[in-house]
Amino acid sequence: MPRKSSQPRLFADAPAKLPPGLFHWPGLVDPARQEALLAAVRDVAGSAPFAHARTRMGLTSAAMTNAGDAGWWSDLKGYRYETRNPATGAPWPPMPAIFREVVRAAVAGTPWPDFAPDACLINFYGVGARMGLHQDRDEKDFAQPIVTVSLGDDGDFQIGGMTRGERAEVLIVRSGDALIMGGDSRMRFHGIRKIHPGTSPLATLAGRISLTFRKAL
Ligand code: MN
Repeated sequence: MPRKSSQPRLFADAPAKLPPGLFHWPGLVDPARQEALLAAVRDVAGSAPFAHARTRMGLTSAAMTNAGDAGWWSDLKGYRYETRNPATGAPWPPMPAIFREVVRAAVAGTPWPDFAPDACLINFYGVGARMGLHQDRDEKDFAQPIVTVSLGDDGDFQIGGMTRGERAEVLIVRSGDALIMGGDSRMRFHGIRKIHPGTSPLATLAGRISLTFRKAL
């Protein structure tokens, strides 16, 4: 999925003051590829159904599943990556080829062009779902970025500092956008404040799906 122009579209439609290590690619995935990505997500969910994870604070309001060699999971034992789906005992479904193609396009022109994720956490946000501010810190190597691709409804992505108390800014992420947190931004607190129901450009998707690609193992 090459970009339409050879010019990187760094920050073209995004706030001018993104901090170092944070990259936002609005519309990286064109509408036809968004549909193909959504079909691939549905294939994954056909064998590893979406479920709400249990955390110490209750069930997550976003439902989740995974593809790849490892999947992020939470229950009362805590946050971790598992190579098998604890709900079924089966390995997570392999990452569909289109997932890898989208990641390759997202990291081209960043400091991590060879990023090779082994885990994709897929979150579904229905009406009212959110994700509180947190850091992604269950991966082995924090030198590897986290790549997020959005489908469906617009979401208010909060991006904060290295401590929970720092002020978080809102960056609106839309269907087809990619967001990369690496380098000095890898450990920023982040979350989804809310989604905007009814804004999905995809006819068969009400709500927001995020695909977050990680090098977990
Ligand atoms: Mn996260």
